[in-house]
Amino acid sequence: MTARYADIALRLALPGSLQFGVPENLQESLRIGQRVMVPLRGGRDVGYVVGISEEPKVRGIRPIERVLDAEPHLPDDLLELMLWVSNHYLAPIGTVLRAAVPQAVHYEGTSKAVARERHFLTAVAAIPAEQAEALLPDLALRAPAQAVALAALCRAQGRPIPASTLNRAALDALQKKGLVTLGSAGMRRGILPPSETPVEPAPLTPAQAAVFARIIPALAGGAKPLLVQGVTGSGKTELYLRAIRALPAGRQALVLVPEVSLTIQLIRHLRERLPFPIAVWHHQLSDGEKFDLWRAIRRGEVRTVVGTRSAIFAPLPRLGLIVVDEEQEASFKQEDTPCYHARDAAIVRAERCGAAVILGSATPSLESRRNAEVDAFTLLRLPGRYTGLPLPEVEIVDLRTFAAPGRRSLGARGEAPRLIAPPLIDAAREALDRGDQVLFFLNRRGFAPHTQCRACGAGVSCPNCRVSLVFHAPERSHLCHYCGYRVEAPDVCPSCGAAELRLSGSGTQRLELEIRTAFPGREVLRLDRDTASRKGAGARVVADFESGRADILVGTQLVAKGLHFPRLTLVGVISPDLLLNLPDFRAAERAFSLVAQVAGRAGRGERAGRVLVQTWQPDHYALEAARTHDYESFYARETAFRRELDYPPFFDLVALRLDGPNLSRLGETADEIGARLRGMLGRAEEQGACRVLGPVPAPLEKIRNRWRSQILVKARPLEAATGPLRAAAGSLHEAARSAGVRLLIDVSPLNLM
Ligand SMILES: [Zn+2]
Ligand SMILES: [Zn+2]
Repeated sequence: MTARYADIALRLALPGSLQFGVPENLQESLRIGQRVMVPLRGGRDVGYVVGISEEPKVRGIRPIERVLDAEPHLPDDLLELMLWVSNHYLAPIGTVLRAAVPQAVHYEGTSKAVARERHFLTAVAAIPAEQAEALLPDLALRAPAQAVALAALCRAQGRPIPASTLNRAALDALQKKGLVTLGSAGMRRGILPPSETPVEPAPLTPAQAAVFARIIPALAGGAKPLLVQGVTGSGKTELYLRAIRALPAGRQALVLVPEVSLTIQLIRHLRERLPFPIAVWHHQLSDGEKFDLWRAIRRGEVRTVVGTRSAIFAPLPRLGLIVVDEEQEASFKQEDTPCYHARDAAIVRAERCGAAVILGSATPSLESRRNAEVDAFTLLRLPGRYTGLPLPEVEIVDLRTFAAPGRRSLGARGEAPRLIAPPLIDAAREALDRGDQVLFFLNRRGFAPHTQCRACGAGVSCPNCRVSLVFHAPERSHLCHYCGYRVEAPDVCPSCGAAELRLSGSGTQRLELEIRTAFPGREVLRLDRDTASRKGAGARVVADFESGRADILVGTQLVAKGLHFPRLTLVGVISPDLLLNLPDFRAAERAFSLVAQVAGRAGRGERAGRVLVQTWQPDHYALEAARTHDYESFYARETAFRRELDYPPFFDLVALRLDGPNLSRLGETADEIGARLRGMLGRAEEQGACRVLGPVPAPLEKIRNRWRSQILVKARPLEAATGPLRAAAGSLHEAARSAGVRLLIDVSPLNLM
C-alpha cells in the first residue's frame, strides 16, 4: 500500500490520532513507529506514525513536514502495546504516549527540545587535567567564562558534569578548540553495574527444580503465561534470576515490581547474580535520568530492566522475558488515564514479541488464578519454603475477650486504651529476649484518624474533602490524607471552644509510641509513607533493620511485601479489621493477601516464625484462611461469592467516575450519562451481558473540593460494554465537559473508593 496518508499520534489529550498527508518523496519509505514533524495550530508538533492509508478521512488535510528519524523510534512491539492500551482501556493515544515515552525523548533532537536537552548534556575535559590547568592563566585573561568552565572540568577529574551547570557559550567555544567533549554518553544514570562480590547460587530444592524445568521451554517463546504460586519464602526470586540467566543470547528481561522502595533487596540479588548491568526504572527519576536511561535501553545496552508499573513501556528492543512479581498488587493498575494494568499489558506485549511471562505470587489475584483454572495460564506451585522450615504458625487473638465494656474508645481522661493485646506483648518480649526481631503491622499511618469534641460532638474534618483529618504527632498537626491539607492541631474545639477534644483510633505513630513504652531500651523503626517519602529514606529503614541496628519495626503495608529479614521471628498484625471493613467487594481478598504477605515475613531464617493476628472478627473466613495458610479454601469461598454477585473474575467491570465542584450539576450529569449508558447498553442488558449500576455517590464523596459520583457497568464479555462505550466515549466526555464535570472511564477498575 502506498502511504498517501498517515495517522499521527500526538502528545495531546485528543480523542484519537490525526491524519496528515504524506509528501510524495516519503510515500515509499514512511514506516509505522517513525517520528514526524507536523504542522499544528499555526505552529508545529512532534508525533508518531501509528497508521497509514490510501484514502483521506476528512477534507483539508495538511502534509507532514519531515521525518525525524531514519529508524522507527520505538520498537514495534512497544508501539503495538501502546495502541492496544489506547483501544482496550478507551484512553486517547496521546495520554498513552505521555505515560509511555518521556517528554525529553519525544522531542529529542527537535527545536522543542533544545531548552530541555541542555540539562541532559554533559561536559568532560578532552585533555588531561594537568594540560588543561596549564592553559588556565592565559585563558583567564582572554576568555574568563571559558576559564571558569575549564577549571570546573579540571576539578571533576575526568568525570562528566551536567552542561547546564556551566556557561553554554563558553562550553561551545571550548569544544571548538578541542578542549571539551559535549555529549550525554558519559552519564549512565539509573544503570547499576554487577556487584563486585558475586554470589554463587544455592542448589535448587526439588520443588524449585520441578518448576524451573517448566520455565525453561517457555523461554523459547509462544508459551502461555506462567503463574508461579509459591508460598512466602518458597524461593520465587531464585527462579526469576535463573530464568533471566537462561535467556537465549541477545534477549532481554523486564522485571516489574509493585513498589520501588521495596526493591532494594531484589536489586541487590540481581546485581550479585547477573554478570551484566541492570537498569532501574521508576517514576521518581528526573527528566534527565529518564532521557539517558530510555536511550540506553533502546540501544540494547542493558539486558535487564527492573521497574514499577510504567516500566512495562521500557523500549527493550529484543524482549525475551517479563516477570511480574507480586502480580496481585493493586499498584500495577494506574488509576488515572490511561487506566492500564501493567500485568495485563505485560501479557499482551509478551504475545506481540514472543516473550515468556512469569507472574509470581503467594496469593494470586482471583483473576489470575481463575485464568489458570480455565487454562489461559499455566499454574506452577511451590508449596513449601526453600529452607525446609514450616510456614509460621498463625494465631488469632480475639480482642473481644480482652475488651472490658467501653474500653474500645478512649477511657478516662489521659488514659489511652492498649493498642496491643497482652498475648502479643508477651510473645514480643519472648522473641526480643531471645535476640530475635519483631515486626508490627498496622495499615494506617499517622497518630489517630479521628478527633472529636466531647462537649458538642463536632469532629475535625478536612475543609476540602469529606473525610476526617488525621492527627500527626511529630508535627502536632492535623493532616488530610487525600488532599494534603494541613493545619496546626487546635487546643480547643473549633466549633464550641471547649477543651474537650479527644483523639480516637490508631495509626502507626501511636503504635510506635506504645511499643516504645512497652519495650523500653529497644530500638524501634517505623516504615510508612511519612518516613519513606524522601528519596532513599525507605531503603535506609530497611537496611538498618536488616543489619540488626533495630529490634522492632513498625509499619504499614510497606513492610508487608518482599522483604527478607532472617532474624525476624515474630509478626504482630494489629488491626486487619481496617481492611476487612472497607466498602469494596475486594476487601476480603486484600485483607487475606496482605495478612498472608506480612505473616510471611516471619521465620525466614533458621528459626521458625510466629504470627499473632489481633482482631474483632476472629471468625472471618479471610482471617481463618490466612491462619491455616489455605489459599485454596479462600479461593473457593471468595469465588463463590463473586460468582453469585456477578463480580470479577466472572464478570468484568467498567467504572465511570465523575467529579465536579457543584453537587447538583454533578448529579444531573451523572443521571444523564447513566441514562445514555442504559440506552446504549440496553440490548446487551436484555441478553444478560451487561448491567448498569448507579450513579451513586462514591464512598469518598468529596475530595479536593470536588464531589464524586460513579456508575459501574458489569459486563461479560468486557467488549459488550467497551464496544459501545468506545464509540460513545467522545460524546460522553463532551456532555460531562460542558457541565463542568470531569469524566474518567476506568476499564477493569481495582479501586472503587
Ligand atoms: Zn465542641
Ligand atoms: Zn482533604
